[in-house]
Amino acid sequence: MHLWSRAIHQYNLGHNSKLERINNGLKSLPGLYLRSNYTGGIALGDCVRRGTEVATEIYQGLHT
Ligand SMILES: Cc1cc2nc3c(=O)[nH]c(=O)nc-3n(C[C@H](O)[C@H](O)[C@H](O)COP(=O)(O)OP(=O)(O)OC[C@H]3O[C@@H](n4cnc5c(N)ncnc54)[C@H](O)[C@@H]3O)c2cc1C
Repeated sequence: MHLWSRAIHQYNLGHNSKLERINNGLKSLPGLYLRSNYTGGIALGDCVRRGTEVATEIYQGLHT
């Protein structure tokens, strides 16, 4: 097997539990939103989709 040391990174084992801890921490910080390639898919399309979703979430939060 050849390891491409400069290849695109992948999630490590335990990534989901780390995300869960981050999301639990965010509950006490209303108004802070995190979206990135570590929050549910590294592909550019995933990042754009999540960006759109969080923009809608923030907009709705401001107008309720
Ligand atoms: C080599 C490579 C090839 C890839 N190829 C593909 C592909 O073919 N198809 C695909 O779908 N995906 C591909 N990806 C994955 C995809 O491009 C990334 O997962 C996606 O762009 C990540 O988006 P992001 O917004 O999380 O982070 P980024 O796009 O890295 O954006 C982070 C932004 O935050 C800014 N920033 C960083 N630190 C700070 C700071 N302290 N203050 C202010 N701004 C800051 C940076 O300047 C940057 O603009 C590839 C990734 C890499 C590295």
